[in-house]
Amino acid sequence: MFPSSFDYVAARSVEEAVAAKAGAGDDARVLAGGQSLIPMMKMRLAAPAQLVDINRVPGLDALERTNGQLRVGALVRHADIARSDLAFGAIASAAPWISDPLVRNLGTLCGSVAHCDPEGDWNSVLLATGADVVARGPSGERTIPITDFVVDFFTNALRDDEMVTEVRIPVPNGRSGGSYQKLERKVGDYATVAVAAHLELGGTGAIARAGVALTAVVPKNTKVTAAENVLVGNHPSTELFEEAAELAAQASEPRDDVRGSAEWKRNVVRVFTRRALTAAAAQAQQG
Ligand SMILES: Cc1cc2nc3c(=O)[nH]c(=O)nc-3n(C[C@H](O)[C@H](O)[C@H](O)COP(=O)(O)OP(=O)(O)OC[C@H]3O[C@@H](n4cnc5c(N)ncnc54)[C@H](O)[C@@H]3O)c2cc1C
Repeated sequence: MFPSSFDYVAARSVEEAVAAKAGAGDDARVLAGGQSLIPMMKMRLAAPAQLVDINRVPGLDALERTNGQLRVGALVRHADIARSDLAFGAIASAAPWISDPLVRNLGTLCGSVAHCDPEGDWNSVLLATGADVVARGPSGERTIPITDFVVDFFTNALRDDEMVTEVRIPVPNGRSGGSYQKLERKVGDYATVAVAAHLELGGTGAIARAGVALTAVVPKNTKVTAAENVLVGNHPSTELFEEAAELAAQASEPRDDVRGSAEWKRNVVRVFTRRALTAAAAQAQQG
């Protein structure tokens, strides 16, 4: 199928992209990897009047660790993260699970974050690790915690005249670990069920910070605060992880579909949460 007609702007700077977007209001969309936007336009699920292509904007492809943060620019592709030594914990664990090599070579983490697809993997990883999204508009830059950025099903907190320039993920300075457990029907698919886990240990070996988030079994990527609260202050153990896994299963809202029954998916959440926490703890304990 062919998309509706649209105007096309190839921005050469963030300022130019923001100005083009501001000029077209809610009829403009940023084009990054195009791996979600172009299929949606072809299926006429999206019909923006203007595309603002950011692929020629210098500097947006930076992936670096500075000031205790992993900074992921708006043109960093999934594949860049999968092969980077800078990725850690749940980030390194999730990157190879995003679709297939073709999509990973073009799609971007920031595009995925902006898209807010509840079956998308990155927002759960960012909720578990406590990331921030940096947005730029005509009046400057603002930093939005990922918990506020993910508003709803395919809905983010950006204003019409803003774009995402980067995502900042805090790099733990103590012992930490993370894992992303994903069940897909076949290689390259979106998740049927996925769970992100992130743990940081204090000096005594007790859990000082915990992040658990769910993909595909909730209307939007969701942080399981009840499970995180149970984990913090306690030492990693099978019983503790089973308790957290039960809370994650209770927080999930799966539906019956061709991929499985709601009851079965809830059990996968339980098993995957336990596995993700066990893997995260083992990584943290190895230092
Ligand atoms: C066959 C297939 C399988 C896939 N499987 C998976 C999977 O298993 N897991 C997964 O997580 N994803 C999957 N995806 C989606 C893929 O990861 C996309 O790359 C991602 O969702 C969007 O990134 P993008 O750079 O391609 O964004 P685009 O398609 O260019 O844009 C997507 C949306 O985000 C907006 N946007 C993009 N960048 C910005 C920005 N910097 N600022 C503001 N708005 C922005 C666009 O305007 C658009 O609304 C799959 C896609 C395909 C085609």
